[in-house]
Amino acid sequence: MKGAGARLLCAAALFAATVAASGSDVLIIPVEGLQPSDLVDSWGKSRGEGRIHRAIDIQAPLGTPVLAAMDGRIEKLFTSRRGGLTIYQRAADGRLILYYAHLQAYRRGLAEGQGVERGQVIATVGASGNADPAFPHLHFQMMATVPGSGWQDGEPVNPYPLLTGRAALP
Ligand SMILES: [Zn+2]
Repeated sequence: MKGAGARLLCAAALFAATVAASGSDVLIIPVEGLQPSDLVDSWGKSRGEGRIHRAIDIQAPLGTPVLAAMDGRIEKLFTSRRGGLTIYQRAADGRLILYYAHLQAYRRGLAEGQGVERGQVIATVGASGNADPAFPHLHFQMMATVPGSGWQDGEPVNPYPLLTGRAALP
């Protein structure tokens, strides 16, 4: 496990270098119509039961289109108690998993294995799983990983500095 952890940390550092080298055009905000100034950094907040929030919550009205933040492939469509209706997408280079949760619905015809392009509609914003129905939002998580890893494996990376062009990764 120690080796795998080091490998993932290394993947996170590599990813940070990639972002620094290629600028903010690597990622887009995965909710239609929002600007960087609309985002709030919710990384590191306590979520009870000893869990720490290692993602960003992006508030938007129910049914707002959710967009693929990067080019890649749908890795897994999954429903869980906490996340509700979710999507795991692997980035085109295989080194990043993007996780979208609390969805209302998938885009019609969305399937595991499908290629998606950055900006393509993949779902709609909801409040499924343990989200507060009064606070529909997209829970968006990024995990640095290695090609061929499991769909839930990775080292979380804070999306907020990337989505706002602040490039504050170590
Ligand atoms: Zn969240």
